[in-house]
Amino acid sequence: MSVAEDRAAPARADLRFAVIGAGMSGILAAIRLEEAGFRNVEIFERESKLGGTWRDNTYPGLSCDVPSHVYRYRFAPNPDWSYRFSPGPEIWEYLNRVAHDYGIARRVRYDTEIARAEWDDGVWKVTPKGGETEIFDIVITATGVLRDPVYPDIPGLEDFEGPMFHSARWDHSHDWRGKRVGLIGTGSTAIQITSAIAKEVGKLSLFQRTPQWVVPVENPEITEREREALRKDPKRMDDLYEFLADRFQNTFARAVVGDKEELDKVARACEEHLATVKDPELRRKLTPDYQVACKRLIMSDTFYREVQRDTVELVTEKIERIEKNGVRTADGRLHELDMLVCATGFEAHKFMRPMEVVGRGGHTLEEEWSEANRAYRSVAVPDFPNFFMMVGPNSPIGNFSLIMISEMQFDFIMQLVDRIASGEAREVEPTREATNRFNKAIQDAMVNTVWVAGCSSWYLDKNGNPAMWPWDFERFEREMQAPDLKDFRLVA
Ligand code: NAP
Repeated sequence: MSVAEDRAAPARADLRFAVIGAGMSGILAAIRLEEAGFRNVEIFERESKLGGTWRDNTYPGLSCDVPSHVYRYRFAPNPDWSYRFSPGPEIWEYLNRVAHDYGIARRVRYDTEIARAEWDDGVWKVTPKGGETEIFDIVITATGVLRDPVYPDIPGLEDFEGPMFHSARWDHSHDWRGKRVGLIGTGSTAIQITSAIAKEVGKLSLFQRTPQWVVPVENPEITEREREALRKDPKRMDDLYEFLADRFQNTFARAVVGDKEELDKVARACEEHLATVKDPELRRKLTPDYQVACKRLIMSDTFYREVQRDTVELVTEKIERIEKNGVRTADGRLHELDMLVCATGFEAHKFMRPMEVVGRGGHTLEEEWSEANRAYRSVAVPDFPNFFMMVGPNSPIGNFSLIMISEMQFDFIMQLVDRIASGEAREVEPTREATNRFNKAIQDAMVNTVWVAGCSSWYLDKNGNPAMWPWDFERFEREMQAPDLKDFRLVA
């Protein structure tokens, strides 16, 4: 098993790496570092299993709305995906299998949350919660984006006497079949849950604060015959990868950053899809009043069908409070429930925090990011030498394959690591001037994007600015190809 292109062994193969997080990005970083010949790679994971978001989310209907054949590591094609958009457990198994096959899984230091990393005297001092400080040369954070659940700020949430949990902490000890289920939220998660449970619940009360645009996307099974063909001819998988990546990059990825023609196509597809809802009143309730794709677009060809079932009530009255028997809406009605699920999203702007990161001269990341989370090309921060982030601020998140993004970012990071490993530099960090220039360009470009069209979403940071990549995917590929060393401070 090998991912490596032909690389000379690093002069400093003994460099000590702390990889923080054993989700999709952390597994990738660990595999790639070891393949590159580094012998001292520690992987820290705060939970007792690896897999990040695919470990945490186990709700009914969980799947990835990025086609599976692009939602995989480039070096580990998988001919066995069962659907075009495979179910979550299959993705989790895939990550596990890759981590096992490459010898990473057994080496992860589970149940170890890093509380603090401090740059001191040319090294990183990394301290796990309740543990001893260890010394590293390079820190790579791979802590994910949608990690910490947000519960709704609704009075009485704790008063509910039945099972109540967040969608990312699904409690499988309570069967929802035949029960009166309340579901708060209509993001990608709630739409998938609704599609999965509507048929078998006693009653589903779906509490919608804001309607969503839903683009119909079919999810056909990949037949055994097709899988066999992919097994026999791995090149077919690579071709499929290129085809899917290209198609996405030339359509949706352009639509959100200013290609009006593409955006119109998506809008038409959503409008025609919405028109399939038969009851005019339900259709009215489901009709958004903002630009298509301003919030993360929902991909589903089953939601509208399922929400029209007799077992489902779409509740649009504001929730006033939660009581022991159910949810009380502003019209005074009590929606009696046996269980309540909060599909109310995540804290998307925390990155590695609450971990405390202290850079050069005692400068903390909290101070650095007090106004906004800013990085150089999403991966590094001035005054934080030898500190790299995967899926950091302004990474192209949204509807992209995050694995693809992570791989490109890692290739970029690796080229900086190479400067240290070759002995050319001991410290590498972006200059403040280059970081400011990059962030100014981001803010200037953001005005052309669909995310500023006037809706609220988790894409927006605390200042109301989209924390997104405002350009097309080709630009991201270009910028990740090679670091411009003029933008870095290399200390020999
Ligand atoms: P989300 O998109 O942040 O949606 C949260 C939902 O909860 C929204 O409908 C929000 O309403 C509602 N909400 C929050 N607080 C509320 C309150 N106090 N009262 C009433 N409603 C409230 O979260 P998510 O659905 O978990 O999705 C998050 C992201 O995860 C997605 O955008 C996507 O990137 C990722 N995801 C991906 C997939 C996939 O297939 N790849 C699947 C699931 C999730 P408002 O809209 O009014 O704020």
